[in-house]
Amino acid sequence: MNTSGSGTATGDSIGSVPSKTDDPVWAHCLIVPGKRNQTKCLYCYKFIQGGGITRLKEHLAGIKGNVGACKKVSADVKWQMQQLLSKIRKGKEKRKRLGDMVGSQCGS
Ligand SMILES: [Zn+2]
Repeated sequence: MNTSGSGTATGDSIGSVPSKTDDPVWAHCLIVPGKRNQTKCLYCYKFIQGGGITRLKEHLAGIKGNVGACKKVSADVKWQMQQLLSKIRKGKEKRKRLGDMVGSQCGS
């Protein structure tokens, strides 16, 4: 007895293109077709490989580390990316702190 074709559509995604979120950083880069997890900076045309979208933000924000800083990006965009990155960091910190102070502090 073979029950075939009762549709459980497995989400077999293409897996070659990073999923685009509504992150504003996508306005500043291109996805490289056929390359997994690779983006291209629209300003200096540098390829940024791996590390996800955060790496591109670091590149645009001028934060050296995993990738070199962008030399062509405008100060506006640079600032915007720095804001985005600091938001991410704050979010992470918040989560940690929340875990720390569960239970304590009910009203000062
Ligand atoms: Zn760049």
